[in-house]
Amino acid sequence: MTSVETIETYPTRIHLLEEHTVNRIAAGEVVERPASVVKELVENSIDAGARTILVEVEQGGKRLIRITDDGEGMSPADALLSIQRHATSKIRDAEDLQSIVTLGFRGEALPSIAAVSRFELLTKRADLDTGMRLLVENGQVVEAEECAARNGTTVTVRDLFYNTPARLKFLKSVATELSHITELVTRFALAFPEVSFRLLHNGQEIFASQGSSDPRHALLAVFGRDVARELRTIDFTEGHLRITGYVSPPHLTRPTRAMQSFFVNRRLVRHRVLSKALDDAYRTLTPEGRHPIAAVFLEVPPYSVDVNVHPTKAEVKFSHEGEVYHAVLSAVRQALLQQGMIPSALPGLQSGLDIPQPVERPATGGQPVWQPSPLPPQEVLHAELMRRAGIDLTQAPATEVQPVARPYAEMLEGFQVLGQIHRTYIIASSLRGLLIIDQHVAHERVLYEKLTVLRQKQPVPVQHLLTPLVFHLDRRTATLLGEHLQELQNMGFLLEPFGSDSVVLRGAPAWLGQRNVEALVRDLLDEISELGVQRRLPLTDETLVATTACKMAVKAGDVLSHAEMTHLLQELADTENPYLCPHGRPVVLVLSIEELERRFKRG
Ligand code: ADP
Ligand code: MG
Repeated sequence: MTSVETIETYPTRIHLLEEHTVNRIAAGEVVERPASVVKELVENSIDAGARTILVEVEQGGKRLIRITDDGEGMSPADALLSIQRHATSKIRDAEDLQSIVTLGFRGEALPSIAAVSRFELLTKRADLDTGMRLLVENGQVVEAEECAARNGTTVTVRDLFYNTPARLKFLKSVATELSHITELVTRFALAFPEVSFRLLHNGQEIFASQGSSDPRHALLAVFGRDVARELRTIDFTEGHLRITGYVSPPHLTRPTRAMQSFFVNRRLVRHRVLSKALDDAYRTLTPEGRHPIAAVFLEVPPYSVDVNVHPTKAEVKFSHEGEVYHAVLSAVRQALLQQGMIPSALPGLQSGLDIPQPVERPATGGQPVWQPSPLPPQEVLHAELMRRAGIDLTQAPATEVQPVARPYAEMLEGFQVLGQIHRTYIIASSLRGLLIIDQHVAHERVLYEKLTVLRQKQPVPVQHLLTPLVFHLDRRTATLLGEHLQELQNMGFLLEPFGSDSVVLRGAPAWLGQRNVEALVRDLLDEISELGVQRRLPLTDETLVATTACKMAVKAGDVLSHAEMTHLLQELADTENPYLCPHGRPVVLVLSIEELERRFKRG
């Protein structure tokens, strides 16, 4: 045994690194390219409560990055501390890591950036008369002076990686680096609609958002009017999870995922589970290899997500991944259902989002016109305070009771059937205006929901046939059908195997009424056989229900009586929407009264 006193007489090879070396190593993780600098600095500005953030870059950020904000600024003493490693105002101890409500928390961005650039900080707190200017080169403070300055902070980063040639070599073209920066700034603009962002490249404005607080203005700035007006709103709550945001309808897709972003408590993140949930929500709706446009915001209690798992904080870890997956899936499906199938009768009208005219931003300190829906931070704080107060939120009911959304009820309010045209479309009026309804799709929608509900509510009212009907099938179809007889029986089709390649029908769902049961079932069986051939995939119950709804629905070309049409629209108005519409086609086109007035120049 050696006593501690004698230990230093031994030779050593290990020594502690000097601070500026440590910072440069850390920079290797945090600062990958100019966009990472922009990310860290903008995060700091947001954390400082800035309402206006100017991002100026030159040569794709390789020559210069300057971020100017009107946030709370720093005192001269804090300014000196801020460039030290592990110096932060955002957490105090490890415990606080469980409840992070700021974007930064590690206190390593500024020293890391300063280690690999010519770094200048100019800052002033509004409540102090004196500001501070610091110049750092090679990680050493070369100038520090108290001075006059505007309230807020300006950080200038020149010649990034000038002292780390290996890194410098890996930078891409000006265009590529700039595109990373632009993508980043636009995403910040989506997440922080109350902040006005402006991005200049070599003095030219590349992007600007109003900071009006209205998320729709941010959408407009980011996606442009054509895409923005097509987007559908997500708004979904389940337990402590709230999901808001925007998704494109199935017909509006992109060949890559570049236009998808996910935010957790307003932090831009990547997460396998989030992308998968989005993909799954669109499965069967979009062609292979096409991706919807999406900006999805999750609000979760800070303790249920670990944000400290990635060097650039680009990934997070959820404590309940499964719940997150299901919530995102349901949120997106619900958004598509509620609004996705209801396009306007005329281009550019009554689409998913009502894009307002941009408003002039008040010059100074104006009231936000509208509270942003993505993450009011108080809610997160509230959850956190509850937790600290020992109030166990996990005991709250898992799902809030939500009013049942009936997507067509409002549109059909006070409807009256006016007639049918082309034996395909029902024309009706309602309080909203003139309605044109595709009779097949509407009926399909009604049946789909009815069948989905019926499957769970046994027994289904069945009409027994006086003479059972026998259907002959080929061997393959008989086998395929054999696997789904139970499912069909649940829907009210009393089918049984009959010999090796036939089935017998002893009863059909009562709601089919007087229609030609034999022809309908024949059609259904043909379709099932067809599906078996095309897909070479197991036929799922969901597909089976969708197919049945489609085959049992009235067709284009069927003449409908006034009473039948009224009944159909009544049923449509009563549909709820826990299930995705089978084929994603529009059901109702609306020509609103306002639009009529506008078109006839009455307005
Ligand atoms: P972190 O953001 O993780 O705290 P940083 O190195 O990015 O670490 O910043 C260190 C500290 O400097 C912050 O905690 C904050 O107090 C201060 N700071 C940095 N940027 C700004 C800014 N734009 N406005 C006001 N304070 C800032
Ligand atoms: Mg930071």
